Amino acid sequence: MRASWVEGVLILTGAIVGWYATRRWRIGTAPTPSRLPSSDYLQGLNYLVNEQPDRAVEAFLRAVAVDRDTVETQFALGALFRRRGETDRAIRMHQNLMTRTELDPVHREQATYALAQDYLRAGLYDRAEKLLLGLSEAGTYRISALRDLCRVYEVEHDWEKAIEVHRVLAKVGKPAQPLAIAHYWCELAAMSMADKDYDTARRHLAAARAEQRRFPRGALLRADLAVAIGEPELALPLLKRVAIHNPTLAGEVLPRLVKTLKAAGREADLAGILKELARESREVGDALAYAAIVADLLETPGLLELARDYVSREPTVAEMVQALLPPATALEAAVLTRLCTALRRQALRAPRFQCVECGFSSTGFFWQCPGCKSWDSLKPLSPTELLAPLANGRPRSGRSPGA
Ligand SMILES: [Zn+2]
Repeated sequence: MRASWVEGVLILTGAIVGWYATRRWRIGTAPTPSRLPSSDYLQGLNYLVNEQPDRAVEAFLRAVAVDRDTVETQFALGALFRRRGETDRAIRMHQNLMTRTELDPVHREQATYALAQDYLRAGLYDRAEKLLLGLSEAGTYRISALRDLCRVYEVEHDWEKAIEVHRVLAKVGKPAQPLAIAHYWCELAAMSMADKDYDTARRHLAAARAEQRRFPRGALLRADLAVAIGEPELALPLLKRVAIHNPTLAGEVLPRLVKTLKAAGREADLAGILKELARESREVGDALAYAAIVADLLETPGLLELARDYVSREPTVAEMVQALLPPATALEAAVLTRLCTALRRQALRAPRFQCVECGFSSTGFFWQCPGCKSWDSLKPLSPTELLAPLANGRPRSGRSPGA
């Protein structure tokens, strides 16, 4: 398969050279010594004979004069290499193009951008950044280069530079990205908190808030900060608000609630607070109960009752209970605990978060989808969704960082 691919490329390259030579002949150029096969062409044949196909392709392409007719073919070939994951070949191809003195400025810019794409695909972010910075000043690829730079800075966790690039994009008329920028500030705040630099963290969180109001991640980090500086009571209203307005984040709220109450010496209040929140809506109650099951918190007094209400009304689980237990059997504590343990194991075994934008699924939660790089797009799957494949007789699978 690989051999036939290389052969195909060589045939294509040979065709470029052959076509070009024929064309020159047809337009009436007399066969002068300068029209004889070039040293590059002969060298290419030599590499071919010696089974060095990559070098042969490079030599053949050097043998072809770069003009409007041949350069697009070379770009197409380079893009093909990149799409196939053969980034070394794409890089050599585009580097080769850039060394050509006869390349016009438009194609030189195109080659630079193509090479930057090769570096991105190969994970050579520092080299890509260098080229993209040049292209982001002006020209045809300015906007694309700025967007790619954002990607580079996100990968490198250089959040301040990512913010700067978004500001430049907004200045040139592209839509503002307050959500992404607010997340960048949160990333910076989390880094400052890890360094115990709470003043800087507070400034970053204020910047996130200025960018995006009603921003759950900012509220969660402000709660973390309150606990870190010894003021857990300030964290409680923040956590309650996120639990009520963002039930899909129950898995992020609950461990923080436990930690906050412990810091405040109020562990006994956990069940009461969860019940109070559950009264807000069924969605909030279900999300918190399921988060408690997954976090293995059912030994906390009062939480088993919350789980009992949940499993009796969650359609798939209720169906399983009815199928497995004799009618009128009370869901006693021991049975309920075993049922919840099974639910937790199933949740931890399978990818239980899925991106609503691209379908990427993972066992852990991410604020930014590792698949499509969207922010806030990973949502937890409900037990119904997690258990459905079991009901269909096949294990759930999905794309995940470890997959
Ligand atoms: Zn995604």
